[in-house]
Amino acid sequence: MDAPRINGKSPPNPPPPGSLPSSASSWKEALSRAIRDPEELLKTLELAPELLPGALEASRLFPLLAPRDYVSRMEPGNPNDPLLRQVLPLDIEKDEVGGYVLDPLEEADSTPIPGLLQKYEGRALLLAASTCAVHCRYCFRRHFPYEEVPKSQDAWEPALDLISRDTTLHEIILSGGDPLLLPDPAFFRLLEKLDPIPHLRRLRIHSRLPIVLPQRITPELLERLTSLRLTAILVIHSNHARELEGNCADALRRCVEAGIPVLNQAVLLRGVNDEIGPLAELCERCVDLGVIPYYLHQLDPVAGAAHFKVEVDRGRELIEQLRSRLPGYAVPTFVQEVPGAKAKVPL
Ligand SMILES: *Cc1c(COP(=O)(O)O)cnc(C)c1O
Ligand code: SF4
Repeated sequence: MDAPRINGKSPPNPPPPGSLPSSASSWKEALSRAIRDPEELLKTLELAPELLPGALEASRLFPLLAPRDYVSRMEPGNPNDPLLRQVLPLDIEKDEVGGYVLDPLEEADSTPIPGLLQKYEGRALLLAASTCAVHCRYCFRRHFPYEEVPKSQDAWEPALDLISRDTTLHEIILSGGDPLLLPDPAFFRLLEKLDPIPHLRRLRIHSRLPIVLPQRITPELLERLTSLRLTAILVIHSNHARELEGNCADALRRCVEAGIPVLNQAVLLRGVNDEIGPLAELCERCVDLGVIPYYLHQLDPVAGAAHFKVEVDRGRELIEQLRSRLPGYAVPTFVQEVPGAKAKVPL
């Protein structure tokens, strides 16, 4: 993927390698300055160069992408940092592991028209954007055929047409990729098309941008979301309490203060949140910020992510421990996606 450019020009004054400015004035600029070069990531975090060959090789399958704001929340010198683990390409990703496949959710079969996934009653998921601001190594969509995601406004028409004809739909989920990577004009036009559809009640946005590119949570965006007829709900994706610091915490507070319900979904990941301490801290940190822990997902068996696997029994044990430590509202539901099921399956 090419680095996004602003007005066709390279961004002004790229900072010297290794520096980590704490904020950027605009989210597009912050995205254009994201780290895409494994060598730069290793140098920035003072990590051993021995990690480089594996990182380069794995990044050929699924490129490295990590915004600097996110990288600034990693601990220098720690190759096992739970945030770094989520983005650093590793040579073990190329190992073939039985049961780990390219399309674990068989989504290729639940697409009536390109860009729309309709698996559950009352809800349809619109793949509103084909790119992300971070590449999570465990992502179940790392091999997704994003070429099929509509690229222009006109290309959404078939999906919008189906949505407006299917009166059983009450909620549209904007997902991707990351729907908040749509620039404001395109994003606002999509909202304008969905808002008047009478049978719709809610608009849900699934985004990792509040975590990795918190500059995206602008006053204009919040203003738009809170002035819709539809109830807007934001579902973020954070796997570790340290992700919820600094600019990210500010962005989440702004969403909550604007009156938007914010939920978190996490993925249970080995070496990231598979111990009770970090998992409980993630849930409590969410609650402190006004974010309700929603789901804890069992990892989808996607090729290249087997090293993140945590056994389901271990996940159940962790949930039991959370229950004994935290208020009920701070304990997420542990779920798995099962192809063909009518809903996510509680474990
Ligand atoms: C996860 C998902 C949803 C939403 O499920 P909820 O349980 O309502 O959060 C809807 N559609 C698809 C295709 C999904 O994968
Ligand atoms: S942001 Fe979401 S869709 Fe994008 S790589 Fe990460 S987990 Fe996958």
